[in-house]
Amino acid sequence: RLLGTPTSSSSALISASRAFSSSTTPIKATLFPGDGIGPEIAESVKQVFTAADVAIDWDEHYVSTEVDPRTNSFLTRESLQSVLDNKVGLKGPMATPIGKGHRSLNLTLRKELNLYANVRPCYSLPGYKTRYDDVDLITIRENTEGEYSGLEHQVSLFFSSLVKNLADYLSFDFVKVVKGVVESIKIITRKASMRVAEYAFLYAKTHGRKKVSAIHKANIMRKTDGLFLQCCDEVAEKYPEIEYEKVVIDNCCMMLVKNPTLFDVLVMPNLYGDIISDLCAGLVGGLGLTPSCNIGEDGIALAEAVHGSAPDIAGKNLANPTALLLSGVMMLRHLKLNKQAEQIHSAIINTIAEGKYRTADLGGTSTTTEFTKAICDHL
Ligand code: NAD
Repeated sequence: RLLGTPTSSSSALISASRAFSSSTTPIKATLFPGDGIGPEIAESVKQVFTAADVAIDWDEHYVSTEVDPRTNSFLTRESLQSVLDNKVGLKGPMATPIGKGHRSLNLTLRKELNLYANVRPCYSLPGYKTRYDDVDLITIRENTEGEYSGLEHQVSLFFSSLVKNLADYLSFDFVKVVKGVVESIKIITRKASMRVAEYAFLYAKTHGRKKVSAIHKANIMRKTDGLFLQCCDEVAEKYPEIEYEKVVIDNCCMMLVKNPTLFDVLVMPNLYGDIISDLCAGLVGGLGLTPSCNIGEDGIALAEAVHGSAPDIAGKNLANPTALLLSGVMMLRHLKLNKQAEQIHSAIINTIAEGKYRTADLGGTSTTTEFTKAICDHL
């Protein structure tokens, strides 16, 4: 079950459009090395894949230095088209300036490519000791809406009724509110909620998982999270063999830290997924270890590490490439290159378990290059 190895019946869902047997004909896949530590860890993936004889023809795309008006971001239309054409890709982290500037590159990718579900497996690595030995969680994050809809405004007279309500609520007079209030709109739609709930339950069924937990804050976000939960309830009825529960997000955080084995598959709106999956990463050793894969409606799979561009260690040869490598393993499984996926997976696990070569985030002293070479030697 590690990394949600697809069963044959899951292939229609997980490996939607292209089935490949292990062949030597190179498969074209888009590669975004990304920002910060991205190019260093992407190089590591290329080296390990080459050493494992994985026939991938990387179609590399970099973040542009100018905004492309067709995408309103630093990602060009050609880059997006590459993923649409190849249907599969691997993405390094992309930095987003805080509080200003262009549209987030990650949001652009998710919206333009309709990447509706983000699957984030998180499990204890054999041989790498943390407080927990038996974490085995799948977070499925709605990926296209919620607080990430990009609808943020300086409140103005155009929003007079909203402002009035807010002013009443805050006991402010009208003018003060206009001067000092901004708003961010959380969008939840039935379409996106049903789609991600369906994905989560089908994923659980096809991967031998026992339970799906819908994570929410519907006691406060009555309309938005209420609709999300309603959709999960509806889908759950179609899967009587899967245990189903609803857990309020704050309680979920507490339970995860106390006993992560209480959970199996977790499905949730966008922002909660972003936060909970970092919490889960912390349970097993940190952000350097956790992969993910974005699933699109047209059979697209764009794998990426959960972590960001780590500007504090960028360019220093210190980054742990494991998360991106394991994302690459998810990509290989999507392509049904299971033998190569298992080979690379074992080499990573064995290198970390052996303990001789580990990067600093795992308490070691190895550089990215040394750790990568050790993985290649374990293939
Ligand atoms: P981050 O994940 O980049 O870093 C958080 C901490 O984890 C840092 O101390 C960093 O050194 C460490 N870390 C992360 N990945 C590591 C790795 N592979 N090996 C060793 N240590 C690692 O989070 P942040 O600092 O909040 O974000 C930096 C930038 O990344 C921001 O611009 C943010 O918007 C962006 N970001 C992008 C993505 C993405 O592309 N999917 C995800 C999250 C953040």
